[in-house]
Amino acid sequence: MKFLYAWLLTSYVNCNQITVYVCDSKSATKYHYRSNCRGLSNCKHRIISMPLEKAMKDRTLCKWEQ
Ligand SMILES: [Zn+2]
Repeated sequence: MKFLYAWLLTSYVNCNQITVYVCDSKSATKYHYRSNCRGLSNCKHRIISMPLEKAMKDRTLCKWEQ
């Protein structure tokens, strides 16, 4: 029973994980909720997705989406 609970909790957390989009450039300091955001249209590099949690460590939310 304990095991099942742990499994349910884990899948709940995974489902809640928010994916954001960032420009794969060293100078990019923003993350975006939408991959087609106007803030990302300036990106000359690849656009990559990552969990919000990871993006928040060294980036801030794009000014267009606040
Ligand atoms: Zn944006």
